[in-house]
Amino acid sequence: MTPSHTGDTFHNFIGGDWVPGASTLPNINPSDTRDVIGHYAQADAAQAEAAIAAARAAFPAWRQSTPQQRFDILDAVGNEILARKDELGRLLSREEGKTLPEGIGETVRAGMIFKFFAGEALRLGGEALPSVRPGVGVEVLRQPLGVVGLITPWNFPIAIPAWKIAPALACGNCVVHKPAELVPASSWALAEILSRTALQDKAFRGVFNLVIGPGSKVGHALVHSPQVDALSFTGSVPTGRRIIADCAARGAKVQAEMGGKNPLVVLDDADLAVAVNAAVQSGYFSTGQRCTASSRIIVTEGIHDRFVAAVVDKLRSLTIDHALKPGTDIGPVVDERQLAQNLKYVALAQREGGTLAWGGEAVQRETPGFYQLPALITGTDASMTINREEVFGPVASVLRVKDYEAALAAANDTEFGLSAGICTTSLKHATHFKLHAQAGMVMVNLPTAGVDYHVPFGGRKGSSYGPREQGSHAREFYTTVKTAYTFAG
Ligand code: NAD
Repeated sequence: MTPSHTGDTFHNFIGGDWVPGASTLPNINPSDTRDVIGHYAQADAAQAEAAIAAARAAFPAWRQSTPQQRFDILDAVGNEILARKDELGRLLSREEGKTLPEGIGETVRAGMIFKFFAGEALRLGGEALPSVRPGVGVEVLRQPLGVVGLITPWNFPIAIPAWKIAPALACGNCVVHKPAELVPASSWALAEILSRTALQDKAFRGVFNLVIGPGSKVGHALVHSPQVDALSFTGSVPTGRRIIADCAARGAKVQAEMGGKNPLVVLDDADLAVAVNAAVQSGYFSTGQRCTASSRIIVTEGIHDRFVAAVVDKLRSLTIDHALKPGTDIGPVVDERQLAQNLKYVALAQREGGTLAWGGEAVQRETPGFYQLPALITGTDASMTINREEVFGPVASVLRVKDYEAALAAANDTEFGLSAGICTTSLKHATHFKLHAQAGMVMVNLPTAGVDYHVPFGGRKGSSYGPREQGSHAREFYTTVKTAYTFAG
């Protein structure tokens, strides 16, 4: 096999070979912009097309692979990720900026996802039913789609690639993966692990391909190629909407997980410590850069002032610093552009009438990076931009409401619907909220972010399009159903 990298220049993986990019881009550590993690390939459209052609050519062999072969490959990848969790977690934190424990945690999750889908390869059965006609049997079979394009964002550099690649392969599809420009190292490391499994066998070369490069070229090629049967995307709403429309126009199956404006309701009867932990955890950890982050905290009148004071106290105590430094609670924002966007939203929230109760400003640390104090904005109402648009940073706003009914109405007053949480000791309100929150995931007395790897993940309304990801539900996207009838006499 060709070398996977030349010095600190890392290549694409196309058709079972490591191929230098048309150009390269430096991968910069947001905790210390002097630290260049490596120079990563930038594929052009021709390399994207070559990867798609390699995946297409490998499909006849891969679709015939046995569940045992798929299990062995996915399980081996999961085991290696888990064995190297500290090293891979460190790489992830270095390129994305989440803290080392968060980076290691995400890496473990990616390993477990591969192991879960190794098992799923064995469980991909269909159904056999008697027909309504005499002597006829009916089978409902699940079959692979063909070539799937996987486009991922920067905020979960290994978990999101894992939760797309593993089910795609488990279901018998060939893959072309395009990671986000800001975080190529984790995807490259994952591809390098995959390249040393049985996928290097001659018949399976091309089953998995990594093409690092810009959305406008590589992503565009995956979305528009008639050789790509299905596309799974995670990222922002504007990009997702365009991809959904473009795929629909050529009749390709598409799944998109997009933004959030997730509400966390705190009722008067909530356990204050539980509520503060839920708000701070899901509002600010991982630098607030989670699609499931709580960005709208909806608080009833009786607890409002105590809750805000306790959140501010907690925020004051947090250490914002280099992601790899022991003791850091929150790492830097991912890049300069995102930091500028966060600051713009904090300023706008104040101009529109909100009060900055704590933080919000950019700060300097020992190393040059994109550091920002977590922002809590109080006195906001539903019409303000801060409560309507996703910021995607450590910024949360508080809406003060009269009672549970007003809280539920405020929670649902959004075009998004990914995750929603409630902190209460009332069984009645918790149960009602679970049934009536317009979100794909509902949390009771837990942060809105932080989910299991073996159950469905996804949202409603503007947050998601197409079948759910993860768990057994992932097969809804990565397979097509065939109904077979047999006359047995
Ligand atoms: P983004 O939309 O800018 O980019 C996502 C991916 O799409 C990247 O790989 C990018 O290169 C690619 N892309 C960009 N333009 C393209 C085009 N024209 N054609 C094809 N591909 C293109 O999003 P981002 O800034 O990387 O990620 C942040 C967003 O992701 C936030 O909105 C966040 O809420 C969302 N997100 C959602 C989930 C979820 O599961 N709902 C999970 C994580 C992140």
